[in-house]
Amino acid sequence: MSERTPYLAANWKMQKTVEETEDFLDRFLGNIGDLQDTDIAICPPFTSLVAAVERCRRSPVRIAAQNMHEADSGAFTGEISASMLTSIGVEAVVLGHSERRAIFAETDEALALKVVAALRADLQPILCVGESLEERSDGVTEDVLRRQLEAALEQVEASQLGSIVIAYEPVWAIGTGKTASPEQAEEAIGFARSVVAEKDSESAARIRILYGGSVKPDNAEELLRREEIDGALVGGASLDPADFLAICEAGS
Ligand code: PEP
Repeated sequence: MSERTPYLAANWKMQKTVEETEDFLDRFLGNIGDLQDTDIAICPPFTSLVAAVERCRRSPVRIAAQNMHEADSGAFTGEISASMLTSIGVEAVVLGHSERRAIFAETDEALALKVVAALRADLQPILCVGESLEERSDGVTEDVLRRQLEAALEQVEASQLGSIVIAYEPVWAIGTGKTASPEQAEEAIGFARSVVAEKDSESAARIRILYGGSVKPDNAEELLRREEIDGALVGGASLDPADFLAICEAGS
């Protein structure tokens, strides 16, 4: 059992209105009393952030955004900055999700700037990395993880590395129902940790590295009991309060 505090994050993507967010939180928060020493983050869409922060104010749950721009302000129509997020009480931000990389052409270079901007604003980055099915079949999973991690963390001071959360999310497992086996997930996460260790071994021992990709209540426990897997980033199954609670319980 590692000494790292488990971290469970719910990525709602473009789902839930303000009313649905409040309804989820009313049901979820009422049942988390038994979860000890577990960090929980809910990542609703931008429009629900204020309501979610308000609902979670006296709870241990932190609210995270799903993206941000690297600049603090400026002529970037449709974008949101780190300081705008912290000003409403948001504490973390998902960066580099594979949907943003694939659909919105987010680059490793832009991500490197976003990670530094988030840390500067005291916003915890939840940095997503992971290989496609083709890359796994070609046997280049480790090359992809190394490239993504080295690029995104290039400008991060060693002293700040430990406060980042990394999510290993194989693209072929996201939203497909095809979960990585605990062995595959642990191997990739162990490798990701070794890449962080090349920058700073103490931070590598502290940094939380999550698994994401079709985590459900019925497969969470076998994944989350693995020594290297510090938690989960959950998409589809996090939309239902009972399912997400069951996953949090499996990880706590
Ligand atoms: C995700 O979107 O980060 C994710 C892991 O989704 P799902 O759990 O639905 O595969």
